[in-house]
Amino acid sequence: MTTTTTPSLNTGKLSIRKNDMVQVIAGREKGKTGRVLKVLAKTGRVLVEKTNMVKRHMKPNQQNPQGGLLEKESALHYSNVLLMCPKCNRGVRHGHKVEAGKGKKGSEKKVRVCKRCETVLGE
Ligand SMILES: [Zn+2]
Repeated sequence: MTTTTTPSLNTGKLSIRKNDMVQVIAGREKGKTGRVLKVLAKTGRVLVEKTNMVKRHMKPNQQNPQGGLLEKESALHYSNVLLMCPKCNRGVRHGHKVEAGKGKKGSEKKVRVCKRCETVLGE
């Protein structure tokens, strides 16, 4: 048996970047879409705008003399989000494509492409 399957999401390298639009595919926020605010490369987690909100109890301080509840995004594991494809209008798995002559000084440029429709989803 020689099966060579290399899912792009399990290469150990994050291919989701800040400001990408992603769709959540697992957990209580399943189906939600949002913009990536931050990528935490060390833990393999991403912070998605208005997604996976958690309430933090704040003690009164100078900025907030009343104290109280603060809602804040909590990071999701990157394997629980998919990059949005504007053409498919859904979260998709993506692959990589090398475009010759599109990089700096005519070098090769690696781009991310939708696996369904092959639309280029950015670098
Ligand atoms: Zn697509």
